[in-house]
Amino acid sequence: MSSSAAQETPIWRTATCHCGRVSVAIPRKPEEINECRCSLCYAYGALWAYYPRNQVTVTTTTAGIINGSEDVSVDTGSRKYIRTDKDGTGNLSFNYCSHCGVMTHWWEEPRNTDPDRSMGVNMRIAGEDAIEGVAREVNYE
Ligand SMILES: [Zn+2]
Ligand SMILES: [Zn+2]
Repeated sequence: MSSSAAQETPIWRTATCHCGRVSVAIPRKPEEINECRCSLCYAYGALWAYYPRNQVTVTTTTAGIINGSEDVSVDTGSRKYIRTDKDGTGNLSFNYCSHCGVMTHWWEEPRNTDPDRSMGVNMRIAGEDAIEGVAREVNYE
C-alpha cells in the first residue's frame, strides 16, 4: 500500500488528447459542464468541467510508439496559450497537445499554491458519456 496522500484522489477516467501524448486523470464524472461562449472557448469548442487543481493529474508522454504509431519525429508534450486579451492579467493558460492540437485543460499560471483553486478540463476528450445527459450551463462571459 502506498502512503502517498496524493494517490488518495480517486480517478474516474484517464482521458487523452487524440494522439494519446497528453493524459488527464479526472477524479469523477462531472455533474455539470460549462459550454463557455467567450470568444476563445467558443472557437475551441471546449466543454469545461471544473475540479480542484490538486485532484487532476496531467501527464505528457515522450515520443515513441503510441497507439501503434511509430512516429518519433514529432515534438511531444503540451503547449499553452496564455490568455491576455480579456482581463489583462495573463494568468490563465489554455493547454493543448503539441502534436495533435487537441485542447485538454486550462489552469492558472503560475500554479496557485492554494489546493482548492480550480481548473477546467475539456470534457470533449473524456468520451461521449462525459457529456451526454450531463447538465449543461451556457456561459457568455
Ligand atoms: Zn495529442
Ligand atoms: Zn471561455
